[in-house]
Amino acid sequence: MSDQANSLRTPIVAVLGHVDHGKTSLLDKIRGSAVSDGEAGAITQHIGATAVPLETISEMAGSLVQPTDFDLPGLLFIDTPGHHSFSTLRARGGALADIAILVVDVNDGFQPQTEEAIDILQRTGTPFVVAANKVDTTPGWNPVEDSPIKPSYDGQSDSARSRLDENLYELIGQLSDRDFSADFYWRVQNFQNNIGVVPCSALTGEGVPDILAVLMGLSQRFMKAEMEIDVEGPGEGTVLEVKDQQGFGATLDVVVYDGIIREGDTIVVGASDEPIVTEVRALLQPRPNAEIRVEKRFERVESVGAAAGVKIAAPDLDKAIAGAPVRVVRDRSEDEVIAEVKAELAEIEVDTQEEGVVVKADTLGSLEAMANALEEAEIPILRAEVGDIAPRDVAVAGTAREVENKTILGFNVDVLPNAERELEQSDVRLFDDDVIYQLVEEYDEYVEEMKRSQQ
Ligand code: GDP
Repeated sequence: MSDQANSLRTPIVAVLGHVDHGKTSLLDKIRGSAVSDGEAGAITQHIGATAVPLETISEMAGSLVQPTDFDLPGLLFIDTPGHHSFSTLRARGGALADIAILVVDVNDGFQPQTEEAIDILQRTGTPFVVAANKVDTTPGWNPVEDSPIKPSYDGQSDSARSRLDENLYELIGQLSDRDFSADFYWRVQNFQNNIGVVPCSALTGEGVPDILAVLMGLSQRFMKAEMEIDVEGPGEGTVLEVKDQQGFGATLDVVVYDGIIREGDTIVVGASDEPIVTEVRALLQPRPNAEIRVEKRFERVESVGAAAGVKIAAPDLDKAIAGAPVRVVRDRSEDEVIAEVKAELAEIEVDTQEEGVVVKADTLGSLEAMANALEEAEIPILRAEVGDIAPRDVAVAGTAREVENKTILGFNVDVLPNAERELEQSDVRLFDDDVIYQLVEEYDEYVEEMKRSQQ
């Protein structure tokens, strides 16, 4: 391995927050304003992600970002917002995203999914910036032509505080209640220990360049060492999604966070049973200039280096699972890589008991998040698996001795048709939801109700 092959990769960014607080709009704005402000090449669409190069960020953020101060190449945004996708996206036991934006509607403050997102960010130790969104809808907002938007607040006396100021200070207070030292980003000296709050509007775009500038500064100052990779090294990535693609069968949408993947490489992929060993048949990326979100048109590429999103076509990928690791076999034996993939999957294995509920979730990350939430609520788990609810799950849940444990908790999964029949004929109860805390709450209420009726 020569030093020359070492280089700094793009930090990977995820967007989290409560539903309707503006995650999708913010991502759209970042992509949209990058496109309208810059020339061709302002952004690059990847599979599942968008790369915004440093030049584009500095064009948008003006004096906030001087390209000469940075050697990181830009930012790669994961296109699917939400903590669900965030927890799915793991890399070597940690989070795949290096850094995150927590979006909070200033009018609405902390909501259950904000709390959940913070739990996950704290657990994974992911640095983040708070986008205090929708400032345009709050009385007290003085639109300014150019960011930074700081002049709208700084120096206002307490008596002159507007509703917006109140909301923003309340938000800072809520962050303090969660043991974060938080402040407006222009007052934060050390972003490693303090959370910067950026008032913004995903609708008008105000504050958006400031968010990019803060993210860029944060990564440059505190993450550079982690961004150093061997560009010729064996590629490592995480499966975002397993998708059927016409002409290719099951394919993997993958974010590559280390090394390089080439056509023809042997790869090991985490699966629902034994890891899959297969050979890369094709690497696909969206055609340049293909419109965002329009049915993707692909072109083949010979290789992809980190950090990037790519679609991998290869034989035998049916049993691959979202959230699972993908590793290229190069420089090491196949067995060694298989052992590593297994070890990574085993980290997520859930502590199961002899008596408890059955848990099904759509990805490894969400299964882990479910298991954590249940453990906190002191709900024992009999079995936990990734996948839709199958007849076997109903049978397993039916073996629980306690009535309250004859239960399946399904997170973001479907019930297979024959399992539906089994459920109807059994005394097993199903709770399904796509919000973890609601699922736990529903189950708790059910148990309470049952205890009351037995008294
Ligand atoms: P998500 O569920 O967090 O992804 O939220 P969306 O991005 O879908 O936004 C929810 C709603 O809020 C949509 O109707 C958006 O148009 C609106 N919205 C998002 N950001 C802003 C903003 O900054 N200002 C205003 N006025 N509306 C916004």
